Amino acid sequence: MTVMPNSTEGRDIAYQMHPNVNLRKYEKSGGLVIERGEGIYVFDSSGKRYIEGLAGLWSVALGFGEKRLAEVAKAQMEKLPYYHTFAYKTHGPSVDLAEMLIQLAPVPMSKVHFTSSGSEANDLVAKMVWYRSNALGQKDKKKIIGRIKGYHGVTIASASITGLPRNHESFDLPLDRMLHTSCPSFVHFGEDGESEADFTARMLKDLEDLILREGPETVAAFWGEPVMGAGGVLVPPAGYWAGVQAILKQYDILLVVDEVICGFGRTGTLFACERFGIAPDALVLSKQISSSYMPLSAILLNDKFYQPIADESDRIGSFGHGYTASGHPVATAVGLENVKIILERDLVGNVQRLEGQFLDGLAKLAGHPLVASSRGVGLLGALEIKPWAGTASGDAATAVQAAVQDAGVITRNIGESICFCPPLIITGEQIDDMFAGVGKGLDAAA
Ligand code: PLP
Repeated sequence: MTVMPNSTEGRDIAYQMHPNVNLRKYEKSGGLVIERGEGIYVFDSSGKRYIEGLAGLWSVALGFGEKRLAEVAKAQMEKLPYYHTFAYKTHGPSVDLAEMLIQLAPVPMSKVHFTSSGSEANDLVAKMVWYRSNALGQKDKKKIIGRIKGYHGVTIASASITGLPRNHESFDLPLDRMLHTSCPSFVHFGEDGESEADFTARMLKDLEDLILREGPETVAAFWGEPVMGAGGVLVPPAGYWAGVQAILKQYDILLVVDEVICGFGRTGTLFACERFGIAPDALVLSKQISSSYMPLSAILLNDKFYQPIADESDRIGSFGHGYTASGHPVATAVGLENVKIILERDLVGNVQRLEGQFLDGLAKLAGHPLVASSRGVGLLGALEIKPWAGTASGDAATAVQAAVQDAGVITRNIGESICFCPPLIITGEQIDDMFAGVGKGLDAAA
């Protein structure tokens, strides 16, 4: 493709440094210019329509062009476009959303603290873990355990808790305090002849062994997504979360649950904590909290987590953390309206009604010669692509993703997987259309 220097593509290559790409490759290829969106669809600059099979970045629950969010943003921009929450000040939108989140939380929570991205939120929870340990006089209890293939963002602490090499390599990460235990994906890490129950027991033993090796008095918190997203949609085996929680309780270790992807209905319950029986001490939310129309994330803390932090701030004189945009009025107003719409339209019910069809559609595609298997929960799923002769790791999934995109469906390839996470407003007919497009792409790639 020839890129004209004065086109959007050309100026993009000239001026913009993109996240999560091979920068040298991008300088040659450029990117697909997406111009507008409507419902589950986006349109590129030539007018071609695509089904957004990943809801942007796992985030646009309400799809594109939801007018109520635009109207609320406009009204808030006109009334109070900006105010902060520092220095003993507050404002209505942040209070309203905090109250709603406390009411909806899957387990009793005490306080909400707003940030603007999933990375910022996880990073801050890591700081809060250390602050709390200091408050309790547990000066050595500072280590944090994440998981191989877990993803919690890219700021220094979040990237360190993340268990993906590409987020560590050459960034001098992870930090020493951040450890990683095994990834509970049976498809990827199950051993020959091992049952799923034996695999689960091995994962739990790995976690307990790590804690005992390090010394339980040095381990402060464990971090996990209920279902790993950016690691490739990895659904944990039955009994995994119950087992993890029993171990954490035994060794007095906090549980931080990252529902940045899973939150607000994605897995068929409002929070995946409900579906998987998880009771977190801190819950991290973002993405579908505002359908990503505005940057917003939230940290919910229970009493056990919050109270020592409040005491320590009293001792020091201030909780020395905050951003200019913490609780931003336009972002929180949009978040509140977005959550109201998710509830009013019963989009969690939509996920429950469509889950069977979605997982069956994926399972049918697993019969394609290029596909090894499928997996998923709610409206979150993946196909495992069989690498073909002569392809390096991940190349087959990259080729399939490109062919599927040509066929009009945007997905995301991660390792050998093609991942799906469509907007929660999708209909049964649109799911069929999406998988028909994926089938065409697979045939073209074969
Ligand atoms: N946590 C999880 C589970 C995520 O999937 C992501 C992003 O995909 C993040 C954290 C980081 O969020 P952000 O990209 O908003 O920093």
